[in-house]
Amino acid sequence: MSVLRVRNLSKAFGGVHAVENVSFDVGDGEFLALIGPNGAGKSTCFNMINGQLAPDRGDIQFADRSIVGLKPREIWRLGVGRTFQVAATFGSMTVAENVQMALVSHHGEIFRFARALAARHRERAFELLEQVGMAGSAPRACKELAYGDVKRVELAIALANEPRLLLMDEPTAGMAPRERNDLIALVKRLVVERRISVLFTEHSMDVVFAYADRIIVLARGMLIADGNAEAIRDNMQVQQVYLGAGRTFRPHAQAQS
Ligand code: ADP
Ligand code: MG
Repeated sequence: MSVLRVRNLSKAFGGVHAVENVSFDVGDGEFLALIGPNGAGKSTCFNMINGQLAPDRGDIQFADRSIVGLKPREIWRLGVGRTFQVAATFGSMTVAENVQMALVSHHGEIFRFARALAARHRERAFELLEQVGMAGSAPRACKELAYGDVKRVELAIALANEPRLLLMDEPTAGMAPRERNDLIALVKRLVVERRISVLFTEHSMDVVFAYADRIIVLARGMLIADGNAEAIRDNMQVQQVYLGAGRTFRPHAQAQS
C-alpha cells in the first residue's frame, strides 16, 4: 500500500523545468531516498508535496486523497511531517518546552495558553527526548545546543506530531560524515518502530546505500531510476549523472554537499 502517490508532477520556473513529469510512490513504512545532483529538482518536489509550492501539472495523493491546492498547515494536519527547518525550534525556550509546545500544537490546544498547557505534556515530552537521546538536556535553552543536538530535538518535535509521512530535505546538511550516519540511523530506528514512512534527501551515498529501503534518482527534473541500492549502484544512467557532476559511487566516496 502507498501512503503517497505522486503522478506526472511538473513545475517550471521561467524556462527552467525544475520538475518534469515525475511519478513515484512512497510505500507504507518505507524509508525512501530521493537523490540527484544539485539543481536536480529535489527541493522543488518536497515543496510541492508539503504545499509550499503549487505544481503546474500532476497530482499528489496522500492516504488516498489529493492534497494539491491544500495549504501547508492543512497538509501537516493530515499527517505529513517535516523536520529540520531552519529556526524550527525556539532558541530561548528550553529543549523540553520546545517539545511540549509541539505536543500542545498537535493536540489542537489554544496557543495563547500554551505555556500553562505545556506542563500537561511534560511526561510525553521527556519520553520523546529520551528516544532521541536528549533527555539529559531537557532543561537547557535550545540556543545553547550543538548543531547535531538541535537536529535531534527537531526530530523529537516532528515525532510529537505523530506524522504518517515524514519529509526530510537534506536533514544532515552541515554535518560531519559520522554525525550524518548517526542521525539517519536514529531516524530509521524511530520511524520503523512507528511505521512512519520517510522521504529524504542525503548527499552521502554511503548513508543512502546503508539505510534506504529504495532509492529514486532525479536528474534535470526527470526521474531516471527507481530501485534498491544494488540496482541504483549498477545503473549506467545514474553513474553518468554522478560522473558528470564529478562524483562517483566508489566505496566510501563522500559526495559533496
Ligand atoms: P535540488 O534541491 O535538487 O538541488 P531544486 O529543486 O532546488 O534542486 O532546483 C531545481 C531547479 O529549479 C534549479 O535549476 C533551480 O535553480 C531552479 N529553482 C528552484 N527554485 C526556484 C525558484 N524559486 N525560482 C527560480 N528557479 C528555481
Ligand atoms: Mg535541494
